[in-house]
Amino acid sequence: MDFYLQLEKEMKELKDSGLLVNIRTLESPQGPWLVVDGKKVLNLCSNNYLGLANDQRIKDAAIKAIQRWGVGPGAVRSIAGTMAIHKELEQTLAEFKKVEATLVVQSGFNANQAVIPMITNENDAIFSDELNHASIIDGIRLSKAKRYIWEHKNLHSLEQQLISASHENFRRKLIITDGVFSMDGDIAPLPGIVNLAKKYEALVMVDDAHGEGVLGENGRGVADHFNLTEEIDIEIGTLSKAFGVVGGFIAGKKVLIDYLKQKARPFLFSSSLSPSETAAALEATRILSRSEELVIKLWNNTHYFQDKIRKIGYDIGKTETPITPVMIYDEKKTWDFSAQLYEEGIFASAIVFPTVPRGKARIRVMISAAHSKEDLDFALSIFEKIGKNLNII
Ligand SMILES: *Cc1c(COP(=O)(O)O)cnc(C)c1O
Repeated sequence: MDFYLQLEKEMKELKDSGLLVNIRTLESPQGPWLVVDGKKVLNLCSNNYLGLANDQRIKDAAIKAIQRWGVGPGAVRSIAGTMAIHKELEQTLAEFKKVEATLVVQSGFNANQAVIPMITNENDAIFSDELNHASIIDGIRLSKAKRYIWEHKNLHSLEQQLISASHENFRRKLIITDGVFSMDGDIAPLPGIVNLAKKYEALVMVDDAHGEGVLGENGRGVADHFNLTEEIDIEIGTLSKAFGVVGGFIAGKKVLIDYLKQKARPFLFSSSLSPSETAAALEATRILSRSEELVIKLWNNTHYFQDKIRKIGYDIGKTETPITPVMIYDEKKTWDFSAQLYEEGIFASAIVFPTVPRGKARIRVMISAAHSKEDLDFALSIFEKIGKNLNII
């Protein structure tokens, strides 16, 4: 069969099974309200936790950097693409995260590719939570290490896997987990993981994409939240969520970062962040370092919304963070719900199989410090109205 006919057939199958993603277009900057496909809607689905994506201080820093450094890095970091501003960002991030050093790459996705295959080979074992993010899974696929998948957040299951691996003589054992899981908003059991890592002599790597700017003192992240910064060997960070910009980084001991500068393929073979992105991320890090105000606002909004939506009668699962899964369970009802939300002026994503198991469909609400109380009240009133229409509450 012709290649293009095959693609068309697969696209039709996606559409028929309700799995075709409708990619909407923003006609406004990121913020609490958006213009989406010509319609003004309340934004409940971005990762802009602190509202920094359109912050004037950060925009000014980006504009100044363009004037001083130009628009493009012109090379990969290891040849002629490391500017003073990249080093300043890495230094400032290391101070913020309270680690020896960091390495900034193009995205959080790339940060996982930059570490996992570089520090493991066929003599090693990787232990991964079954719900880890796609970028971790792909990083593991690039490694020759033996894989052990443990049940989500289940320390007994992790220990079973560590025991079964102890029959082989691995050089390294690496445990990898998301810090906060993006579909349910639940937090990894880091203290238990760290204990098992000590017992079985494993390294611990945490991807803190949804924890930074959210958990810990000044939003330092999940390791700080548990007071375990010293015990975590490798942290993956993103500059694309709470930091409001784009980019990713690896945080850890200086020798690890120096090693990755020699080996990590996204660092060696893809150009660095642009000067404006770098300056914007630097300003966002400084804003976080200086003040906890936005993080406090984020949590106030989160508690306000989550208390009220529970009182209305919704189940929001096991969330412990601003990620709020409003459980609808039924796939078809979830699509109807999401369409009605949009009609009523609310933009929130429907999350269905295969992103979550069948029968666990939900509307995922992402709370931001940028929302006002009126915004949240508006959302609550619409959720109540539609829930009653569809006989969910
Ligand atoms: C969003 C996310 C990433 C990807 O970060 P980007 O900077 O957008 O590439 C990586 N890991 C986890 C756990 C994430 O949630």
